[in-house]
Amino acid sequence: SHIRHRNNKNFSVEIDRLEVGAGRIVCLLGPSGCGKSTTLRIAAGLEQPDAGEVWIKDEKMAGPDIFVGAEDRQVGLVFQDYALFPHLSVFDNIAFGLLGQSGPEKAEVVARILEQVGLTGSAEKYPHMLSGGEQQRVALARALAPNPRLLLMDEPFSGLDVVLRNKVRDETLAFLKETGTTVMLVTHDPEEAMRMADEIVLMRNGRVEQQGTPAELYSQPKNEFVAAFLGEVN
Ligand code: ATP
Ligand code: MG
Repeated sequence: SHIRHRNNKNFSVEIDRLEVGAGRIVCLLGPSGCGKSTTLRIAAGLEQPDAGEVWIKDEKMAGPDIFVGAEDRQVGLVFQDYALFPHLSVFDNIAFGLLGQSGPEKAEVVARILEQVGLTGSAEKYPHMLSGGEQQRVALARALAPNPRLLLMDEPFSGLDVVLRNKVRDETLAFLKETGTTVMLVTHDPEEAMRMADEIVLMRNGRVEQQGTPAELYSQPKNEFVAAFLGEVN
């Protein structure tokens, strides 16, 4: 619903309505400081909006009368700086979020997700033994292992060098589509949004400038800002 949130004296996010349909990938796109991460953090339950409501499926997560914290929202988080636990194996990193399951159940879930992200055989390795791309896949596996209702990703590929970034991005996209995961992904990279998104939400100064499919924004930009921002895509 209509969300208002002020995180300091100078900056506020105001969004009319932002909906992520089941199985869709919605990209929050925009220049640095436009409020993408703030919006994602509100969806995650890491920040409480000053006004408006957040819903996941038919459950209210935030509103004047309620605030459900991140740990109880059944959302998966992948952030650039949301690092793996260095002292835990890949297996234990992924099993970490699987609360209330028996040992064998956990082992089964971890084995399945490792296979899905193509890391069977790496279960006993430690993060420092993996490449950046492999670490990113473990982070994705960790976020998805508890079967979250919504996956929230903030600049998940920005820690990777350019060549690896495109490869990991395409692999991740294929995986997310295959699993039907519902995703809200933050990026300042128009090319990444054009490639990954079913729908782009282009933001500027805490407001939504234009929302639509990549093709719509590219071929029917509402104004000069949208045209210029997407014009950076080759
Ligand atoms: P970037 O692409 O650089 O990550 P962003 O679109 O994710 O930018 P936000 O992190 O949402 O932008 O920040 C929006 C504005 O709010 C910025 O002006 C930022 O300086 C400010 N801001 C972010 N976090 C806080 C905070 N915890 N306290 C105060 N101000 C903040
Ligand atoms: Mg950000």
